[in-house]
Amino acid sequence: MSDVVSRREFVASTAVGIAAAAASDIPYPMRPPRPLPPSSRWAAKPVALSSANGLRAAQKAFDMVMQGADTLDAVIEGVKIQELDPNDDSVGYGGLPNAAGVVQLDASCMHGPTKRAGAVGALEGIKTPSEVAKLVLKYTNHIFLVGEGAKRFALQYGFKDEDLLTEHAREVWLHWRANLNPDDDFLDVPEAEHMVVRPTGTINCDAVTPQGDISSVTTTSGLAFKIPGRVGDSPIIGAGQYTDNDVGAAGSTGRGESNIKVCGGFLTVEFMRRGLKPTDACLETLKRVVQLTEKRLLGADGKPKFSLDFYAVNKRGEFGAASLYPGRYAAHDGTEAKLRDTAYLYERPAASR
Ligand code: ASP
Repeated sequence: MSDVVSRREFVASTAVGIAAAAASDIPYPMRPPRPLPPSSRWAAKPVALSSANGLRAAQKAFDMVMQGADTLDAVIEGVKIQELDPNDDSVGYGGLPNAAGVVQLDASCMHGPTKRAGAVGALEGIKTPSEVAKLVLKYTNHIFLVGEGAKRFALQYGFKDEDLLTEHAREVWLHWRANLNPDDDFLDVPEAEHMVVRPTGTINCDAVTPQGDISSVTTTSGLAFKIPGRVGDSPIIGAGQYTDNDVGAAGSTGRGESNIKVCGGFLTVEFMRRGLKPTDACLETLKRVVQLTEKRLLGADGKPKFSLDFYAVNKRGEFGAASLYPGRYAAHDGTEAKLRDTAYLYERPAASR
């Protein structure tokens, strides 16, 4: 035992390790959980943060980090809760389909300690694309698999081919199709109260361990009713999420096309590298988004007509989030997983023309 570790600390950390071993039921783990160093030797304040739909993800990822799990295993297990939840129609199983009524999922992840990345795009039939992205990261010399190839790859590792379209999602899609064009052959159907279409949604989760190791993941069913084959920002390394273990991690939700053009995940991490705090880095990235926004996407007052959010953590475990308009995000920083307000650029959504 190292002489800087007191006996009490050693016993305490070993107890955590034993708890972790019992909780090590992680499919395809990056590594098995191992005891944390004593808190006097922590390099960072551990944290897990997520988009507003990720309260459970933040809780799960934080708990796993504190059980000594690998940082990527922690964030993937966190977002899987949302992927498997049929009531979240923006992610995984139950996600709203594309224009042809088919659910196509996108996900990507980065693992700070090994500097690896993995992603899948337009993946059909697999409930947890974040896990498939982790397998691409862990077991291949590639980074990004799409469509049929991504599905075949997942099936080879034992994932099940399942129908991802829930009754709710099918109904919402049928309404969308019926009311799309008054001149088509589908008769218009009045919008029922409970069929509110949420065109965007996604989950991003980022975590920092007490050792200062960082990972990030973003997973989504993408824009509802997108053109089949459309891939958004979520599976693009450097847009939907990005991690540099020396600096921090950042991720995004909202209008993917606007994020892709600024490589928002990467840019946010670069702003942190130059010394900005996570929240300020997110705000700077949003300013760049506005600068690069086409006129057709701006309201009469010059503000964007879409929503976009960035979430960031740095190597010390500081964290923050910002959006174009007031929003929320989830974070667990050692006290509890709770929703917090994002910083934002504009008070109110754009005035329409
Ligand atoms: N960013 C996702 C996409 O563009 C959608 C979202 O976050 O709502 O696919």
